[in-house]
Amino acid sequence: MSTTPAVPPGLVVAIDGPSGSGKSSTSRGVAARLGLRYLDTGAMFRGIAWWMLREGVTIDDPAAVAARAQEPVIVSGTDPAAPGITVDGVDVAQAIRGADVTGAVSPVSAVPQVRARLLELQREIIGAGGIVVEGRDIGSVVAPDAQVKVYLTADAAARASRRVLEEGGSDVGATQASLLARDAIDSTRATAPLVMPDGAVHIDTTSYTLDEVIDQVVALVQVVEDPA
Ligand code: C5P
Repeated sequence: MSTTPAVPPGLVVAIDGPSGSGKSSTSRGVAARLGLRYLDTGAMFRGIAWWMLREGVTIDDPAAVAARAQEPVIVSGTDPAAPGITVDGVDVAQAIRGADVTGAVSPVSAVPQVRARLLELQREIIGAGGIVVEGRDIGSVVAPDAQVKVYLTADAAARASRRVLEEGGSDVGATQASLLARDAIDSTRATAPLVMPDGAVHIDTTSYTLDEVIDQVVALVQVVEDPA
């Protein structure tokens, strides 16, 4: 049984990394262990992509996406046990995991007006802290002053196998190709690309269990609490 450290007031734990690196499970586990809130910023981008698809917006037309970016009303839950998300009052927690949204989310997320819109919402939710936030640009752009920054990676094959297990699919090869395609767009976009933030601790999760990764992140919080 691991011990639970006291948490510094206003703590923000920023967890970034590519798709399937273990961000969601790790972030939820750390938040639950430390009694913190949890924000899945990827779900917010997926929520906007879901809305654009529903509205028939041409996803590959950045100007068309930008023109509608202010419209969807996104409400994100922060309970690590059941985060939840609604868009225009519709519970989209399941729908945003569908292949159509997964295929649309990276081009939608590359549009600066979409990022600006969500940045504002994300900072509102982070507020006074006490939260674990996962995404691609949390330690670099959304919360550059976060006391703990973690950058998670894993082998592409391991990432694809995890995703297939999570989503109940069967085609690891296709999933790996889809992850790598999203990584390429996310890492090369002009606004807030996926990068390892300054001051982040890099954890390659390929050969660790989820509990081991959670332990490592919790230990980083302990260092912030008791730097001696
Ligand atoms: O984390 P998840 O795989 O659900 O994120 C879906 C997509 O949302 C990413 O591939 C990326 O395009 C976008 N995203 C982002 N910035 C974040 C979180 C997610 O651009 N902070």
